[in-house]
Amino acid sequence: MNLILLGAPGAGKGTQAERICEKLNIPAISTGNIIRESVKNGTEMGRRAKSFMDEGRLVPDEVVIGIIKERLAADDCANGFILDGFPRTIPQAQALDNMGVVIDRVVSIEVPDERIVARISGRRVCKDCGASYHIEYKKTAKDGVCDKCGGEVALRKDDAPGTVAERLNVHHEQTEPLKAYYEKSGKLYLVEGQEEIDDTTRLTFEALN
Ligand code: AMP
Repeated sequence: MNLILLGAPGAGKGTQAERICEKLNIPAISTGNIIRESVKNGTEMGRRAKSFMDEGRLVPDEVVIGIIKERLAADDCANGFILDGFPRTIPQAQALDNMGVVIDRVVSIEVPDERIVARISGRRVCKDCGASYHIEYKKTAKDGVCDKCGGEVALRKDDAPGTVAERLNVHHEQTEPLKAYYEKSGKLYLVEGQEEIDDTTRLTFEALN
């Protein structure tokens, strides 16, 4: 199954992507994580992307489209994949179509802006593997230490309050139109993000059945 997860930053796409990945045994692909990794490794692409990311803006389409093209060509995508954070603009969705990638379902996790702002301030992310936690809803077993890899868990630079407002604007202006894009082909399923992560997961799996 080829899936896309849509939703505002902080809506919980990453966590749901991880859970679908475990259950369906298909890779979860996060362009945000791939870009952060490149920034950390100081690659050419990372250097280009860093200022956009730090300011809460989108990295140029051609950069992320290149990333996705390369990633989807890998063997582990042969039986399907979950895209978390891509596409984020209409040209990115068109690029997927032009690559001949057939999307089966698009799940949009709906969370109102007020709750997004509150959630993101409590989000903590592993600096090494990108696993996502929350100081209230999804705690690490040991304070500040990633359950998965033992890396340091901290507030992401672009999760700072000033940047979140910009990311939400960008989401409404550039990413939300994707709902209409996928609704036209009958692929869109809306899931109301719940207070409890497990409840959102249950609704997400219902949307996939
Ligand atoms: P995320 O972890 O998905 O919230 O992504 C973090 C940041 O990476 C975004 O705010 C953008 O700057 C950049 N980014 C991730 N995915 C994309 C995308 N599909 N298009 C453009 N920029 C992206």
